[in-house]
Amino acid sequence: MFKDKKIFILGMGKSGCSVAKLLATDNHVLITDVKCDDFNEVKELESLGVNVIITKEQDKIFDDSYDYVVKNPGVRLDHPVVLKAKKYNIPVITELEVAYRYLPEVKIVGITGSNGKTTTTTIIYEFLKAADLPVHLAGNIGFPLCSQIDQIKKDDILVIEISSHQLANLDRFKVDVAVLTNLYQVHLDFFGSYENYKLDKLRIFNNQDENCVAILNKGDSEVYELTSDLKARKEYFSSKDDADICIKDDAIIYRGEKVVNLSDIRVKGIHNYENIMAAILAAKEFNVSNEIIREVLNNFAGVEHRIEFVRRLNGRDFYNDSKATNVDSTITALKSFDSNVVLILGGLDRGHSFEPLLPYLKNVKHIVCFGQTKERIKEFALKNNIDVMVTDNLEEATKAAYNISLEGDTILLSPACASWDQYSHFEERGDEFKKIVNELY
Ligand code: ADP
Repeated sequence: MFKDKKIFILGMGKSGCSVAKLLATDNHVLITDVKCDDFNEVKELESLGVNVIITKEQDKIFDDSYDYVVKNPGVRLDHPVVLKAKKYNIPVITELEVAYRYLPEVKIVGITGSNGKTTTTTIIYEFLKAADLPVHLAGNIGFPLCSQIDQIKKDDILVIEISSHQLANLDRFKVDVAVLTNLYQVHLDFFGSYENYKLDKLRIFNNQDENCVAILNKGDSEVYELTSDLKARKEYFSSKDDADICIKDDAIIYRGEKVVNLSDIRVKGIHNYENIMAAILAAKEFNVSNEIIREVLNNFAGVEHRIEFVRRLNGRDFYNDSKATNVDSTITALKSFDSNVVLILGGLDRGHSFEPLLPYLKNVKHIVCFGQTKERIKEFALKNNIDVMVTDNLEEATKAAYNISLEGDTILLSPACASWDQYSHFEERGDEFKKIVNELY
């Protein structure tokens, strides 16, 4: 707990505001951001005694009189306030770390990794909820832990998605069951190098002891090597090798026992089977039965905007994968379909190459493109003899994709680009796609 401390919160947003509210009662709290359009939020914070300052020069209002800096995970590690705090030896922590110190005795399941965090977190939560366990969903998934403190009781289970940005500033936070899904080269602009990024991911195991569990991807050689000397008991999943849980004869097998046939799982794709296996290992720590696991997997249709089934219309299946904001994610989606695909691509131009898609385009009959990258996608398609159509926006692209599709085809929005050229976030793009699709006839 924090009492009579002077606390500088860097970054508003959901987690910053919820941590300010939690700390406001017993501490002197200042929260700052470069902008804030939510006047109601500001009013509420001020009514709790929080000092709200909107400024671009945050380092000018920060000095060595503070006890802690609470950094929004998205704020860069070389932000002037963070550097100044280091110079003054003032601890820089995150919202999760603050929340941790207010928790009663609970079990924490923490999920990190480059890809699959939200999906794995959601499945674990669904398993535990279906087993009637006292479980809460929190973290990077959109529900700051600080905002849930008053609903959490002793012996509850918290399932928390933890981004590498959050891990970077954890201190005492202890994860009882830690899941590391995989490691890819992402967010290098934030961490400076892949080495730093990997080291931060490993921080999820930092405070674990021999009573804790580490759930690890044996098929990811880097994860396997980097985690060789953990204190926690290791449980492995793999879609490639033999492991505590693995795939054999089209079924998921846990220690020799069949849990579920792949055909009884609604979401598709090896990547999703990996997420599911990791989630089953976590659920087994709480003795969830195979029957409950099967029931959940039978119904779980995936997380919104991640290869999300939208609708079948005249024999065509529409999928929304708006979360695919880079080429790697689109490759993952393409690997998940055996049918012919009409692929909708395009969005913000970061100058990235589309060439890595090429080996995965065998089933793609047609590319329809839109957004800032449309001309570059057209060039890429023509160069590789793939039929392509350029459109002005997502609505035109979706209608064009439908018009050129045949019965049995899949129409997939998996843009391989961020959405910010036309939308404020990928969820908005995905919502618009679903609306357009649901209005087609
Ligand atoms: P995260 O929360 O880590 O961003 P999500 O569960 O939201 O991950 O999935 C985002 C995208 O990442 C998915 O649409 C899919 O393209 C890809 N993905 C999901 N799980 C995996 C996995 N286990 N391995 C590789 N890629 C994955």
